[in-house]
Amino acid sequence: MTDRPRVVIVGAGFGGLEAAKRLSGQPVDVTVVDQRNHHLFQPLLYQVATAALSPADIAAPIRSILAHARNVRVLLDRVCAVSSSSRTVLLESGRPLDYDWLILATGARHSYFGRDDWAVHAPGIKTIEDATAVRRRVLLALEQAESEEHGDARDALLTFVVIGGGPTGVEMAGAIAELARQSVSRDFRSITPHCSRVILLEAGSRLLPSFPPELSKRTREALERIGVEIRLGAAVTDIGRNQVRIGAERIATHTIVWAAGVQASPAAKWVGAPADRLGRVIVDDDLFALGQTRIFAIGDTAACPGRRGGTLPGVAPVAKQQGRYVADRILGRTMQPFRYRDYGNLATIGRKSAVADFGRIRLSGFSAWLLWCVAHVWFLVGFRSRLSVILHWGWNYFTYARSARLITGPIHTPTTDSFAEAA
Ligand SMILES: Cc1cc2nc3c(=O)[nH]c(=O)nc-3n(C[C@H](O)[C@H](O)[C@H](O)COP(=O)(O)OP(=O)(O)OC[C@H]3O[C@@H](n4cnc5c(N)ncnc54)[C@H](O)[C@@H]3O)c2cc1C
Repeated sequence: MTDRPRVVIVGAGFGGLEAAKRLSGQPVDVTVVDQRNHHLFQPLLYQVATAALSPADIAAPIRSILAHARNVRVLLDRVCAVSSSSRTVLLESGRPLDYDWLILATGARHSYFGRDDWAVHAPGIKTIEDATAVRRRVLLALEQAESEEHGDARDALLTFVVIGGGPTGVEMAGAIAELARQSVSRDFRSITPHCSRVILLEAGSRLLPSFPPELSKRTREALERIGVEIRLGAAVTDIGRNQVRIGAERIATHTIVWAAGVQASPAAKWVGAPADRLGRVIVDDDLFALGQTRIFAIGDTAACPGRRGGTLPGVAPVAKQQGRYVADRILGRTMQPFRYRDYGNLATIGRKSAVADFGRIRLSGFSAWLLWCVAHVWFLVGFRSRLSVILHWGWNYFTYARSARLITGPIHTPTTDSFAEAA
């Protein structure tokens, strides 16, 4: 025990980890609490879901990332409440944790717009478990289709529906199309590249609404070239076992992936702070939760005002810059309000195309894809992961192979119920 300020960081995602690294070696005692033992590089989760990478390529133990930070300890636990009056964080294990400064960096999860019953049929990808469950569905559907002779049943097995035309939906649809139409067709005897259908449903009028319209158009063209059917203005009205409904239309499918909505962690409830409609803690310019002077909220769980109005997007650079900022604020290195530096937006479409928006400079196609590769390898945590990802990508690029095509768990009929149990 020391009399140095005690900093508790909840969540070791992009924001929390960055704050912990910045506080490393400084005159503060830091405790990082996370419900998982690993830091996850979410931008590449869709590659785990489509068997291009293995989970260990994009996740690293939090404890080993922070092993050299002697003033930082890591606890594997889940936070379930915060008492701001006694400055205590309550952990699921029952232990209380006192703080002088609290950083809430607990991210976001899926939102099914009030239809949580859809979750079992249409999983999203936020965690390693989600990604491997989706991988299992995709690969089992292909395995079953190989031996299914009945036309309709086979068509449903070979129909993959992705809901949501943002970056995750676009990346997922492109990757599934390449997996189902190119990578696996030579390993199966009855599945040819044209047997599979990949359908991307978007309720709005264009894909990638956060990008300029010209890049949305190029994204659409690139996806169509690799065989993805794009349906704009297609608001899903119901999802059930092996089917998606858009009004009166029914799409029979065994694989549905949800990439349509997010909702913040319950951090706002823990501290009784005002929240926006996505449940994000509303923070002031200094990233304090409104009404609090010792509690910061950062990353996806915070609604932070942007300079041009609105709130900052839920992306990794926002979380990382906020993590560095709150650490500096605690150390007294800055008293200026937080300012986000936007270096641009990237989204990939399959194995050799992407779009990049850097304000006045806009790229699409192969050059944007190369940039996307460099940026993602650069930001991965750890040399081993970087090397492994580069080798996998190189191999996949030249051979079309998907090396992580493992189906784990029981191989029962892929009903959504049995999948839910397995997941
Ligand atoms: C599939 C996908 C693709 C994405 N692609 C991109 C991209 O290409 N580019 C980009 O910039 N951004 C991308 N993002 C968004 C980016 O990953 C997030 O903006 C970023 O992870 C937010 O960081 P964070 O620190 O706020 O939260 P997270 O990184 O989500 O970390 C939250 C941490 O809090 C922990 N936690 C949650 N609740 C508790 C609790 N009660 N107790 C203890 N610990 C808890 C979690 O285990 C987790 O480790 C993507 C996200 C997803 C899901």
